[in-house]
Amino acid sequence: MKTDYSDKLFAKAKDLFPGGVNSPVRAFKGVGGTPRFIAKGRGSRMWDVDGNAYLDYVGSWGPLILGHCHSDVMQAVQDALKEGSSFGAPSPREIRLGELVRQRMPWLERMRFCSSGTEATTAAIRLARGFTGRDDLLKFDGCYHGAGDPLLVKAGSGVETLGLPDSPGVPADLAKHTLTLPWNDLAAVERLFEKTGKTIAAVITEPVVGNMGVLVPKPGFLEGLARICKAHGALFIVDEVMTGFRLAMGGACGLYGLRPDLVTFGKVIGGGLPVGAFGGRADVMEKIAPAGPVYQAGTLSGNPLAMAAGTATLSELSEATYRKLEQLSADLAAGLAEAAAAAGAAVQVNRVGSMLTVFFSGEPVFDAASARKCDAKRFGRFFHAMLERGVYLPPSQFEAAFVSAAHSPEDIRTTIAAAREAFQEAV
Ligand code: PLP
Repeated sequence: MKTDYSDKLFAKAKDLFPGGVNSPVRAFKGVGGTPRFIAKGRGSRMWDVDGNAYLDYVGSWGPLILGHCHSDVMQAVQDALKEGSSFGAPSPREIRLGELVRQRMPWLERMRFCSSGTEATTAAIRLARGFTGRDDLLKFDGCYHGAGDPLLVKAGSGVETLGLPDSPGVPADLAKHTLTLPWNDLAAVERLFEKTGKTIAAVITEPVVGNMGVLVPKPGFLEGLARICKAHGALFIVDEVMTGFRLAMGGACGLYGLRPDLVTFGKVIGGGLPVGAFGGRADVMEKIAPAGPVYQAGTLSGNPLAMAAGTATLSELSEATYRKLEQLSADLAAGLAEAAAAAGAAVQVNRVGSMLTVFFSGEPVFDAASARKCDAKRFGRFFHAMLERGVYLPPSQFEAAFVSAAHSPEDIRTTIAAAREAFQEAV
């Protein structure tokens, strides 16, 4: 595969941007080699600047549930653009998307739009602290909730890929308020709350972890967190930035029957444009400025182009879409497991809905510690063997791959055929 133009652009990019990228996981640090510079995407495919085509299972890290350049989404953004790109004043498109979100999650009493998942989780944490008057926060090892200071403690995703336990620059005085425990270990949460429950403002979790690779919640874990929070006066925050509108119409909360105090969104809700949102109980959300004293703001919050893309995306998603995603993803997961077995590769394929990860491990992977035991070198070889065959997977063992509604059964078959050869190269 020819990559001369990508190589040239990467050399230039390194002179402009740290590590040559504007977000760390794009740099292929976890797998080595030169990242491909992407020229365009259509449906389930994208093309790099050298003209190589890829079946895309990254989907811009989750937002592109309808695939690249979905006609309704593109049309909605073009229509919105004709009226203006930003007003810095309330506009009807915010109401349209807000109502659409609440139709799918009727328990969401109030919400606020912002421009990224990081903004949403940062604001939710501040709000929980402001509401409860407590400073501590419990997050789980390997969960990634964006690049905000209080959440860059034992975070997954790029932080894990780069082998950074925590980020320098986060003051120890702040980080000490972020308590961490292994994910999926409810007994450990019980014990912590019995000891120091009265100082904990909130528990935040990914309902299905995507940022350590896909980890599946044990039965009762999420419900248990909700119960413990309630018993101790802490808020339960479900971070649905990745899972919201991806796993089901009602998100992971719908799937697992959760009614968290606060929930955060990003990715799919913006249809590929920069959007985040947080929301939940009215009595908590009414503490946000200007209704209340907890400050949160954004110049481009509720941006009309982003609202239009989000509205078009959510309007297109139906129960039939999720059935299709489930079928395609189940076929893909089964095909990958079979291809690995045929090549003698010890792997675990973890999947919930259209999120999946092939872990190079002979043991079940259910938390950060078991994910870290995976053979990242083998994953790197598998990744490159797939890339060479035109399949673009997330360039790290610690990330989720995403199937979109634009993928076809033929795409899935092509991917499995590539994997049969790639697993042989990887072992
Ligand atoms: N929360 C989760 C669960 C995420 O997966 C991410 C991003 O991957 C974020 C928060 C941060 O979102 P953003 O990258 O839009 O700031």
